[in-house]
Amino acid sequence: MNILVLNSGSSSIKYKLIDMRDERLLAEGLVERIGEATGTITHRRYGRAGAPEKIRRDAAIDDHTTGMEMAVALLTAEDTGVVATQADIAAIGHRVVHGGELFHASTRIDERVMANIEACIPLAPLHNPGGLAGIRTAIKLFPQTAQVAVFDTAYHQSIPPHAYQYALPYALYEALGIRRYGFHGTSHRYVAGEAARLLDKPLAQTNLISLHLGNGASITAIANGRSVDTSMGMTPLAGVIMGTRSGDIDPAIVEYIAVQQGMPLSDVMRLLTKESGLKGICGRNDLRDIHQDAAAGDDRARLALEMLIYRYKHYVGAYLAVLGEVDAIIFTAGIGENDPVVRHGVCQGLDKLGIVIDPRRNTDWQGRAAAISVPESPIKVLVIPTNEELEIARQTAAVIGS
Ligand code: AMP
Repeated sequence: MNILVLNSGSSSIKYKLIDMRDERLLAEGLVERIGEATGTITHRRYGRAGAPEKIRRDAAIDDHTTGMEMAVALLTAEDTGVVATQADIAAIGHRVVHGGELFHASTRIDERVMANIEACIPLAPLHNPGGLAGIRTAIKLFPQTAQVAVFDTAYHQSIPPHAYQYALPYALYEALGIRRYGFHGTSHRYVAGEAARLLDKPLAQTNLISLHLGNGASITAIANGRSVDTSMGMTPLAGVIMGTRSGDIDPAIVEYIAVQQGMPLSDVMRLLTKESGLKGICGRNDLRDIHQDAAAGDDRARLALEMLIYRYKHYVGAYLAVLGEVDAIIFTAGIGENDPVVRHGVCQGLDKLGIVIDPRRNTDWQGRAAAISVPESPIKVLVIPTNEELEIARQTAAVIGS
């Protein structure tokens, strides 16, 4: 059974076609710059062995429909394709960023579901419209195929009220839905499942702290397989320091900047989202560059690194207390999978709390989900490559199978 996974943005569509018999990636691609004078589609076809074949086409891509038609043509053409016809695609799984409080799980898409995704647009004005455009287009092009929505927020709907409420007038929660929602749910859910498998323990009896550390980053406390707290908030601006996002700050700073610098609120929000985080501290948002600068003696780069590790550790400590008992902490995503210095920094000094990293395993880790703690560490430290598209495909298969 083949499942097509779609991640549609306002001007782009990412796709992956996965054969669920062995969860093998058959093809993937990216349609970019939809609506601009020239767009691009990059398509990769994977064989059983060897490097993928890569195809790139430049053309005006007027709208999502044109973009998706081009992708479907590449997926089904003899020279570039991996399936004979559209009928060889059993279902389509859509990534949807925000499901608000309306969606607690992945769900088959119908008119009512689309209306509810639309109702969540005020919570994710930059993301949900693109997702919805992708869904509408897929339904038009694949009217007979089951379509499933998989939400970034759904995994965190198990967070209890005392953790998701903000201490603001309660009426604001009732009127505007102001609360913690959390994001990266698909990734946290995926690595939690893989961790339970690695620990050889039922997920429903496993407590974890999942650190999804990429350009955007969030840390989640998982009790008995379910999310009970997470560092991101109503929006993905909250929590740990990120590439260009500030993460948690004193909210009074917003007004102070606006008044002192004579800045409109929209500019302050842009500053917090695009000019802050690692970039704000040392001018760089990619950790690879920051390591280079720090090694060359740049004090700001060193400070950025220390701040980043400190904030990560802060959440690990908080969630150790929230959970009481933890089987493993998981590192994943760009930084979590690739940066042994950060992993070491986060775990350093936590021996007495039960986290004992093995320095050799940490630096030697490559590619495959594995423990980097010493065997007798009471809390295991795991590095697990995330795979959000595979999780979307698994969720889609589960929904259409049920
Ligand atoms: P993601 O958003 O998960 O794709 O992660 C992207 C981020 O991961 C980049 O901005 C880098 O900061 C970080 N990253 C990627 N590769 C490496 C690496 N080899 N070493 C350190 N950090 C890395």
